[in-house]
Amino acid sequence: MRLFEGTEFDRPPKCDECGQLLEDCRCPPAAIAEVPAERQTLRVGVEKRKKGKIVTVIRDLADTNSHADLLTTLKSSCGAGGTLQDSSTIEIQGEHVQRIRQLLKARGFKLRNG
Ligand SMILES: [Zn+2]
Repeated sequence: MRLFEGTEFDRPPKCDECGQLLEDCRCPPAAIAEVPAERQTLRVGVEKRKKGKIVTVIRDLADTNSHADLLTTLKSSCGAGGTLQDSSTIEIQGEHVQRIRQLLKARGFKLRNG
C-alpha cells in the first residue's frame, strides 16, 4: 500500500488547462508550456545550402512552443519562403539577418551575438 493511497494526495496528475487526467489530455504542448519570448535566447545566422542557396536560420526557439505564427510573420516581413526545420529551428530563404534580428527583438526575444 502506498503512503497516500486513497487520500487526496493520491490523485493522478491532471492537466492545468483542460482538467483531464494527463494521460487523457489532448491539449497541444504549446498550451501547457508556452515559454515567453523574454526567456528565449536565439541564434540568427546565415547558412549555405545545396547549389549555393543562402538561408537565414533562427535556432534555439523553445521547442515546446508553436512557431507557426512567428514563421508566418517572418516570411511576410522578409517577402521570402520559409519552413519550420524542427521544433526549435526556423529557416527563411535568402539573407535577412538584420531584418529578422530587429523583428525578433521587437517581439521581446533575446539574441545571442554571432
Ligand atoms: Zn489538457
